[in-house]
Amino acid sequence: FVNSVDEFFSFCKENDVQFVDFRFTDMKGTWHHVSYRMSAVNAGHFENGLPFDGSSIDAWQPINRSDMLLKPDAPSAFMDPFTADPTIIVFCDVYDIYKGQAYEKCPRAIAKKALEHLANAGVGDVAYFGPENEFFVFDDVKIRDEVNCSYYEVDTEEGAWNDGKDFKDGFNTGHRPRTKGGYFPVAPIDTMVDLRAEMMLVLEQVGLEVVLGHHEVAQGQGEIGVVFGTLVEAADNVQKLKYVIKMVAHLNGKTVTFMPKPLYGDNGNGMHVHQSIWKDGKNTFYKEGGYSNLSETALHYVGGIFAHARAVAAFTNPSTNSYKRLIPGFEAPSILTYSSQNRSASCRVPYGAGEKATRIEMRFPDSTSCPYLAFTAMLLAGLDGIKNKMVPVGPMDEDLFELSLNEIREKGIPQMPHTLRGALEALIRDNAFLQPVMTPEFLDTYQNYKFETQVWPDEARPTAFEF
Ligand code: GLN
Ligand code: MG
Ligand code: MG
Ligand code: MG
Repeated sequence: FVNSVDEFFSFCKENDVQFVDFRFTDMKGTWHHVSYRMSAVNAGHFENGLPFDGSSIDAWQPINRSDMLLKPDAPSAFMDPFTADPTIIVFCDVYDIYKGQAYEKCPRAIAKKALEHLANAGVGDVAYFGPENEFFVFDDVKIRDEVNCSYYEVDTEEGAWNDGKDFKDGFNTGHRPRTKGGYFPVAPIDTMVDLRAEMMLVLEQVGLEVVLGHHEVAQGQGEIGVVFGTLVEAADNVQKLKYVIKMVAHLNGKTVTFMPKPLYGDNGNGMHVHQSIWKDGKNTFYKEGGYSNLSETALHYVGGIFAHARAVAAFTNPSTNSYKRLIPGFEAPSILTYSSQNRSASCRVPYGAGEKATRIEMRFPDSTSCPYLAFTAMLLAGLDGIKNKMVPVGPMDEDLFELSLNEIREKGIPQMPHTLRGALEALIRDNAFLQPVMTPEFLDTYQNYKFETQVWPDEARPTAFEF
């Protein structure tokens, strides 16, 4: 909408903007904001920053060193589609006034540093990220109760599960998708046609380029596809997308969650991330004649992500719930291999994409990640793979969900961690590849924060299933 600070102010004048809403992202990916009266904002704020209390954001500053600055990024500004009075939102980076530099725990600042690292590595000049954030729409507590009851006797075979749930005690699901029955049905089974359409139109208002929307496999699950972007751009877009989708649902009396596995026994929510690196206007991931037309560079990139995947997972799958999604049978992978077309592999290579669109799709990430950190972690792991010519296991074109544990072990195929604890412990051992961008202080804070707020509280709680 605007390209400079000057343009920002003329845009605000033309559009009679009343409030400027400054937003920044914390380590868990949550957006925070403070709204200024338009008349109180001047060009100096863009230059020098705006003060806030850094000790009130989880795991950031101690109380006795709490003064921090927000540095607004003028070109990121866009109109908030939901406020009653004209309000413009501006993405901000956090600035550390004690150290006189970008704050080492600000994810958006970390992502910008990752771009410098990409440039220095000489591999490419731009990395593209295309996240697909799936979500559930809930409108009815009953759905949650029906599906989530962990005291049912459940046979994991699909048929048995369907019999046990959808038709339990003569319960009639009406026009509602059955377990795993949601993919692409038309209305009236798909009750979210208008809701998704509204979401798509509002996403365009805030500057996202929308491609498609559809019902996803699980009951009440949806997805809206938007065009990829560069690292910071794509991460900013995730923040906008979640905000818009949740708000449109909310205004329609619904609730949206991007939680990886809200419903036992049905598909979960992924955030698949398509990736490619370009140099001098050329896609470095493409080579005609390679497996699925992938270049060596692409394979080394995948090799790097797989080699570091257990640590990367601490950023791409950073909640205890993340690991309930990464189980066989629900199109969410745990096996670290690559394959063309294969949705049971951690890395799918979209088939027949052509020179420009050739890319790899990492399928394990989910939307509980902070997008700035998740993309940064994958980029750094991939660059390390390119530097050290790492080679991924594969390709493996069979249905990997059919493999027994013994086969997985015999074939020596690495797997994702099975718990958040596993990912965090891997991160403690394996983080040198992140250090060009993430400081030891940041890594330490991040790990402790995740243990304290997620791992330990979760491990301490008996579950209904254990009873
Ligand atoms: N919901 C699946 C996941 O958890 C993906 C399904 C799909 O996009 N085809 O990753
Ligand atoms: Mg998709
Ligand atoms: Mg999908
Ligand atoms: Mg996908």
